[in-house]
Amino acid sequence: MRAGHSATAGHVVVLGASLAGLLTAAALGSAGWTVTLLERDALTDRPEPRPGVPQGHQPHVLLYRGLSAIEELLPGLRWELIVAGGVPLDTGDLAWLGEQGWAPFGTPAFELVSATRPLVEHVVRQRVKALPGVQLHSGTRVSGLRRPAGGTGWVVECPGNAPLTAELVVDASGRGSRLPIWLARSGFGEVATTIVDARVGYASRVYSAPADHLGPVAGILMLLTPQSPCGGVALPVEGGNWMVAAVGAGDRRPPRDAAGFDAFLGRLRDPALADFARSARPVGDIVVHRRTGNVRHYYDRMKNWPTGLLVVGDASCAFNPVYGQGIAVAACQALLLRKALPSVSGLRPGWERRLMRRLARAAELPWAIATGEDLRYTDSESGRSPIDALFGRWSHELDRLAVHGDLRAQRTLDRIYHLVGSPAGMFHPALIASAARARLFGLPTPVPRPPLGDHSRQTTAR
Ligand SMILES: Cc1cc2nc3c(=O)[nH]c(=O)nc-3n(C[C@H](O)[C@H](O)[C@H](O)COP(=O)(O)OP(=O)(O)OC[C@H]3O[C@@H](n4cnc5c(N)ncnc54)[C@H](O)[C@@H]3O)c2cc1C
Repeated sequence: MRAGHSATAGHVVVLGASLAGLLTAAALGSAGWTVTLLERDALTDRPEPRPGVPQGHQPHVLLYRGLSAIEELLPGLRWELIVAGGVPLDTGDLAWLGEQGWAPFGTPAFELVSATRPLVEHVVRQRVKALPGVQLHSGTRVSGLRRPAGGTGWVVECPGNAPLTAELVVDASGRGSRLPIWLARSGFGEVATTIVDARVGYASRVYSAPADHLGPVAGILMLLTPQSPCGGVALPVEGGNWMVAAVGAGDRRPPRDAAGFDAFLGRLRDPALADFARSARPVGDIVVHRRTGNVRHYYDRMKNWPTGLLVVGDASCAFNPVYGQGIAVAACQALLLRKALPSVSGLRPGWERRLMRRLARAAELPWAIATGEDLRYTDSESGRSPIDALFGRWSHELDRLAVHGDLRAQRTLDRIYHLVGSPAGMFHPALIASAARARLFGLPTPVPRPPLGDHSRQTTAR
């Protein structure tokens, strides 16, 4: 335990033991804090979906920035995920249908370890539970926070259990966090919140098929576009299975019934996903999820921020999941905590507010990417700033180049998508020159459809 002067010194209570909470515990545990994770769900020792993470039935992609940040926090985790069944693949081997056509196929890009969400969380949880100084209490719901009479720190209320005291509380309780209500009730004021909701819905089903079912194609991703707000994904996961998701926005959200699900896949811009679903064996029910809006609480801008309180993950900023950013942002925030908090005892009063600003900055670019796109699906595209509109138009120009075979444009977009590149890289002189050439002399022929043809003939009886 860190040196301190009271019973709560060096003790942090983390609300929620999903990925943001676990990664926070990994960061603070390794920095010498005593960490208590409180989780409402009764957790088991198996990778399985659970009520507190209803999105666990849906496909989860771990962006390269997320995978590398988690590896930094928990060295060896990537390999443990693969040993547990995660499927390593190169995103350059995905059949990727964007707004303007197929992305170039078969050029090396970023590694992705594809696994179900419960497996990722399970592997991370096993590692975090084994860290010295970290304790996880499952089946423990937090009902409120209060200041101890005449003291500093927090008293964390958990019905049916003795209250816990802590020097620091980190809220990692996800989209449903009650913190805005608790803060308002305690006199800290209201938090400003922005919501951009493209009303995206997921319907997912697990299929049985080997990881090489599509030959050289590692998986399929078909993006929604404002003109055709329906898409989907098929990715190999552990256990010889694939996750297939139908994704649609607004009144084009996919249904829960099998016939409607198949019909939805059949109406997409390309038959690849419908062909896949026909050629593999479904092994589970269809599960839908529709709570997907971008929601950002501006805690970093509150005038009166309490001492000893931080907020991470979806509890502070949740994204439309089609961009696959939530876990990567939570992992980057955990790295920030690890860097900032060992020296907290030497910091000037107000460190929490400064750290909250840095945590908020970690969400800045992902937020701009997600909301910049999603405003195109709502009636409020005018809500875009001129800078965001410029970035949006230019990224569409780069996408146009990429689907006509410009590998530099493709790599640049990939780097931004995986949160490893700066948006400034989009304005490299070579890219500006390519765009100007294309305007003057026209574009080469579009890249061909990836080699998806054969599997549709291997139809398996259901
Ligand atoms: C359909 C869908 C698909 C997604 N796909 C991706 C993807 O491809 N890639 C990606 O990076 N992200 C994806 N996400 C986002 C990702 O799931 C989250 O960003 C990630 O889980 C981190 O969230 P979190 O830990 O902050 O919150 P959550 O995962 O929501 O967890 C919150 C935790 O807090 C617990 N809790 C809540 N209230 C209390 C309480 N009062 N007391 C105690 N415990 C409490 C809950 O039980 C839960 O365990 C997707 C989300 C959705 C909805």
